[in-house]
Amino acid sequence: MHNQTLLTFLGLLYFFVFSFASSKPNLIVVMCDDLGYADVGFNGCKEIPTPHIDSIAANGVRFSDAYVAYPVCGPSRAAFLTGRYGQRFGFERNPQYLPSDPNMGLPKEEKTIAERLKPVGYKSGIVGKWHMGAHLESHHPLNRGFNYFYGHLGGGHRFLPEELTLKDSYNITGENDSYRTWILKNHEPVPPKKYLTDEFSDEAVAFVERNQKDPFFLFLSYNAPHLPLQATDKYLDRFPELTGKRKIYAAMVSAVDDGVGRLLKTLDELELSENTLVFFLSDNGGPYKKNASENTPLKGGKGDIWEGGNRVPFALQWKGKLEGGREFTEIVSSLDIMATICDLSQAPKVPEKPLDGVHLIPYLTGSKKGVPHESLFIRKFDQQKFSARQGAYKLVLEKEGAPAKLYNLQKDITENENLANQLPEKTTELEKLLNTWTNSLKEPQFLGLIHSPEWQKKLKKKQK
Ligand code: CA
Repeated sequence: MHNQTLLTFLGLLYFFVFSFASSKPNLIVVMCDDLGYADVGFNGCKEIPTPHIDSIAANGVRFSDAYVAYPVCGPSRAAFLTGRYGQRFGFERNPQYLPSDPNMGLPKEEKTIAERLKPVGYKSGIVGKWHMGAHLESHHPLNRGFNYFYGHLGGGHRFLPEELTLKDSYNITGENDSYRTWILKNHEPVPPKKYLTDEFSDEAVAFVERNQKDPFFLFLSYNAPHLPLQATDKYLDRFPELTGKRKIYAAMVSAVDDGVGRLLKTLDELELSENTLVFFLSDNGGPYKKNASENTPLKGGKGDIWEGGNRVPFALQWKGKLEGGREFTEIVSSLDIMATICDLSQAPKVPEKPLDGVHLIPYLTGSKKGVPHESLFIRKFDQQKFSARQGAYKLVLEKEGAPAKLYNLQKDITENENLANQLPEKTTELEKLLNTWTNSLKEPQFLGLIHSPEWQKKLKKKQK
C-alpha cells in the first residue's frame, strides 16, 4: 500500500516536473547594431533583400510602432537586458572601454535576463557584442548570468579576421584598440577565422544545437551593420547596382540575413520552432550619414530624440502559438522582452527592481484588451533632451529651456507639424507625465565615451 502511494506520488512528481520543464519556451533575441528603420523588407526595403529576417514577421508579428529605450547602443542594450530604463540605475551613456573600472558598465545590483532566467533552469548564451562594461568581475557576461560567451566586450569590432591582432582584451584601453582584439570564447581569447558576422552566425547555430534539451536564452548580438563598413566579396557581389558606403552596408545586412536564415532553419530542423520565441530588432536607429542606413520616413537617426533615433524594425515569431502575418500597431518596447519571458517561464519576481516592460503575448493573442503601454519616455541627460510618447502624441524637448513641441504621430510620422500651440492642454499633460518619470531617475553613474581622451581629441580636431 505504502509502495503504491509512493509510486503514485513519484509518478505525479515526474509528471509535474516534466510538464513544468517542457512548458518553458526558449528565447532568441537577434539584435542588429545601428540598422536603419527602413533597411529590412518587412518595413518596405526593396534595395536590400532580407528574406530570412522578413520570415520572422511573416510567420509572426510585425510591430509597426516599436521602440528601444534609448537612441544609442549602450543604454539601449542595458534597458533591454534588465527590462528597466537605464536612467533608473545611472546607465545613460555609452561606456568607455576600461577593463580596470568596475563601475564603467552595468551595475551588479541590476539583473540581466540571463540572471533572472537562471533559477528556472535556463542556459543562456551571448554571441557578439556585449558593451555592458569590460571589467572582468563586474561585467564579463559569465559573471552576469550567461553560461556561454563568444564575442567582444566593447561597443564595436572590426570584421576582417586579419585586422584582429590584439590577443588580450584586458590589456588595452580605448575604443580604437577595443575594435581589434581577438574574440573571447568564455574567458579564452581566440583568433576568429571568418568574416565576423559569419563566425557569429556559426556560433549561434552551435549554441542552439548544444542546448536543445534545456530551456535556453540566446542573445545573438550582431555588431553589424555598425562601423567600420567592411564586407567580403561573397556579400558585396550581391549588390552590383550599388556603390560606395551603401554597397558595403547592404552587404553587411545581407550577411546578417544569411545568418538569421541558418538559425531559423536549425530551429525547424531540431523541431524547436514551436517552443521558441524569436525577436528581431535593432539597438537604435540608423546613423544614416555614417553607415549609409535609411530611416525613411522617420526624422533624424541614431542619437536623436526624433523617431529615427529609437523607433526600430521589430518582429516576433512564435510558431504554433502566434498566428503569422500580423501587424501590431500599439506602442511596444524592447523593455517588454524581459517581462514577456519572465512571465512565460515563471521566473521569480524581484519586487525591489520592478520591470518597466509588459508581457506582450496576451495582447498579441487578444486575451488581454487595451494597450501594453500608456506612455514611454526618454531622457538624454548630457544634452538635456527629452521625449514622452502617449497614444498618438509625442512631446519633444530639444534642449534645456526649449519650448515643448507636440506631434501627432498617427497623422504625422515625420514629426513635421508642431501642435503645441494648438493643443496646450495635451502638451501640459505630457509635460507632467514626463516630470513624474524624470523625478524617479538617477543621474548618470559613470562618464561616457564622449568624455574619453580619444573622443575629446577628435572633437578638438573637428573644431580646428
Ligand atoms: Ca547601436
